[in-house]
Amino acid sequence: MNIHEYQTKDLLKRYGVPVPPGQVVHTDVQATSVAEEIGGARWVVKAQIHSGGRGKAGGVRVGNSVSEVGVIADEMIGSRLVTQQTGAEGRLVHRVLVEQASTIVREFYLGLVIDRATRRITLIASSEGGVEIEEVAQHTPERIIKEVIDPAVGLLDFQCRKVANKIGLKGALLPQAVKIMKGVYRCMRDHDAVMAEINPLVITDSGQLLALDAKMTFDDNALYRRPEISELRDFDEEDPKEVEATAHGLNYIALDGDVGCIVNGAGLAMATMDAIALHGGRPANFLDVGGGATPKKVANAFHIVLQDPAVKTILINIFAGINRCDWIATGIIQAMRDQNIKMPIIVRLAGTNVEEGRAILNTSKFPFIIAGNLDDAAAKAVAEANKIAGKVVPLRKEQA
Ligand code: GDP
Ligand code: MN
Repeated sequence: MNIHEYQTKDLLKRYGVPVPPGQVVHTDVQATSVAEEIGGARWVVKAQIHSGGRGKAGGVRVGNSVSEVGVIADEMIGSRLVTQQTGAEGRLVHRVLVEQASTIVREFYLGLVIDRATRRITLIASSEGGVEIEEVAQHTPERIIKEVIDPAVGLLDFQCRKVANKIGLKGALLPQAVKIMKGVYRCMRDHDAVMAEINPLVITDSGQLLALDAKMTFDDNALYRRPEISELRDFDEEDPKEVEATAHGLNYIALDGDVGCIVNGAGLAMATMDAIALHGGRPANFLDVGGGATPKKVANAFHIVLQDPAVKTILINIFAGINRCDWIATGIIQAMRDQNIKMPIIVRLAGTNVEEGRAILNTSKFPFIIAGNLDDAAAKAVAEANKIAGKVVPLRKEQA
């Protein structure tokens, strides 16, 4: 789960990480009064969306007077911001962060991530801050400094000083850097974050280190024990289909193909997506209905998959162990009737109560396309999707 910049800064502040004075607002009137309150001569107005690259997209703007802050906030709130990370449709800006502007002397990058190779949290820093760290890593990897943290002892002062030194932080800045690095680390550990990033961390004209931008991502599997983090979840920033799926106990992830998938079990769902790709198609989603799926749950799965306008056909692939094919079939019929589904539905059923399940499908008036196995199901689903798209695709060798 991701949270907003202002929320991350609120958390980090509690761990002694210095951030500019500021406040999040929902209206231009609030923006003006916040600017007045925090004082200063210049302010930055920052769009709060779950995306980086806002600076380049016009989502970080400087106001030189209190009234200009109001004008900028008014323009930003309610607009759609398109960044490199949002896709062409962009994100609607619901709120902005108004902060006292800082005068930047130098920009650094500071991050903490879980390195899966060492299975440890790793501190990453670079003197090349402000820009995309991926670019730096690709073109000048020697400018990325890494330090692996031993979980038994945590991040130690000497490690922080070593990293700070390597990115060119000296003198009075060293103890500040140590405090910030350790603060971010403790904040990450205390809240089960999987990633924390400050980009840029800057030296201001008054010789202070300051976190100008901050981002944190949390482990979804740990949210049950972090209610204070769960509270920060912003449903506006998430795919409504995924939110609905979570509420129904379904595992759904939107993808960009046109073959909708309803499958039981994450492994079989992955295999189904692979089979679709093997036949030259593209899955529109990953969806795992789980074990013991009731007819209602299956119908809910249809409802979610069909919200994606790109879906041309749906492939249902069930290998029932705990599940019951008759329940699945009942759910399919319910969905067909209640949701008035007209597109081709490819069904592959196997396992518990498969005969009963097939009988339910066969005696219905709906023209299901029944598949014998996974490969057959994927081939049929891709063929149907292509037919609708008007694509002519040559058969693979073994099919011809
Ligand atoms: P991002 O583009 O979404 O990562 O948003 P950031 O918060 O990192 O802002 C983008 C850039 O705007 C930063 O790299 C800074 O160069 C600049 N910026 C942000 N805040 C300030 C500020 O207070 N003063 C100045 N001079 N520049 C700022
Ligand atoms: Mn940034």
